[in-house]
Amino acid sequence: MVNSAHPRPSIDALQTELVQWRRQIHRFPELGFQEQVTSRFIAQKLKSWGLEVRTGVAKTGVVATLRGNSDGPVFGIRADMDALPILERNAIDYASEVSGVMHACGHDGHVAIALGAARWWSEHRDQLPGTVKFLFQPAEEGPGGAIPMIAEGALQDPDVEAIIGLHLWNTLPLGQIGVKAGPSMGDTAKFTLTVIGKGGHGAIPHQTIDAVVVGAQVVTALQTIVSRNVSPFEPTVVTVGKFNSGSNFNIIAQTAQIEGTVRCFNLEMAEWLPKRMEQVIRGICDAHGATYEFDYKRHYPAVINDPQIAALVRFVAEDFLGQEQVQPETTLGGEDMSYFLQKVPGCYFFLGSANAELGLDKPHHHPCFDFDETALGLGVEMFVRCTERFFSA
Ligand SMILES: [Zn+2]
Ligand SMILES: [Zn+2]
Repeated sequence: MVNSAHPRPSIDALQTELVQWRRQIHRFPELGFQEQVTSRFIAQKLKSWGLEVRTGVAKTGVVATLRGNSDGPVFGIRADMDALPILERNAIDYASEVSGVMHACGHDGHVAIALGAARWWSEHRDQLPGTVKFLFQPAEEGPGGAIPMIAEGALQDPDVEAIIGLHLWNTLPLGQIGVKAGPSMGDTAKFTLTVIGKGGHGAIPHQTIDAVVVGAQVVTALQTIVSRNVSPFEPTVVTVGKFNSGSNFNIIAQTAQIEGTVRCFNLEMAEWLPKRMEQVIRGICDAHGATYEFDYKRHYPAVINDPQIAALVRFVAEDFLGQEQVQPETTLGGEDMSYFLQKVPGCYFFLGSANAELGLDKPHHHPCFDFDETALGLGVEMFVRCTERFFSA
């Protein structure tokens, strides 16, 4: 069901421009830390509206400060702005003009929404009893722009006291909001395992250590960690996404390369999982006389929403869109918004952007991903209302 709530008229009036900005960015997508054109576009707009703009933060990041009518607190709004290495397959007139690069996650929309909020507040400064700081972040899809932005002082001078951000979300229909206190997005890790056996003739197995057989047992046994070692009430994923081994049908493989991703919500679990995985790997390799190399890299930590700011977002969403439109959405997908949330209390929420009737419901990172642009105005209204509520609380 598509929600019929509308932004206030002064935000509704920005809709044409929101769509233009989003489509402009969509046509010229840039990968992480290469967002030069996007960054210039953002900075030029913000300067023209009278914000104090700092560019080149974490290479291509932009930080803009808008001071209101008094020295109230500082509220942060964060938007990521990078695209993905995907060849766009949408037949639309604003399709990517950069072959092999595409805004397939909706970050073009995030930029437009944050710009819309900046534009609106710049025209309503007299109603702003504090400061709003806009953080346009590079490289969310990897290798991660939040850490260098924080290191380069994006949260300081003036010091951000609370921060919010949103992800357009095609898992939810247009106009629904997903928000939850506490863990909201996953702690993510990547592992690479090489099982080292002893290759040989396919007809003389007793003189070999078959890396395919050992590797296959490792893959199967890894599945028992989630199903038999972890509480069923603790969301956890161990995915083997890649298994490469062997060179020919009649040769016993010397090695097997196995790669995968591990997700969870809880820090203790995030630290325990690689230890348990290695126990399992070691046990199976030992049993067969194989050896192994195991590399485990933690990626982004879990997104943990502050209970008070999450309650603020939920209140605003219910007030604007209706109680039945607000869901406690979570995902084990990763987000480096988590690093900002480790520094200041805040909330990262989902804004439903799917419209199945218009065919705008492909999953994120799909070559035909697109979303209902009505969500742009709804996003601006959410950001503006959250800011108002923060300053009035
Ligand atoms: Zn993404
Ligand atoms: Zn994304």
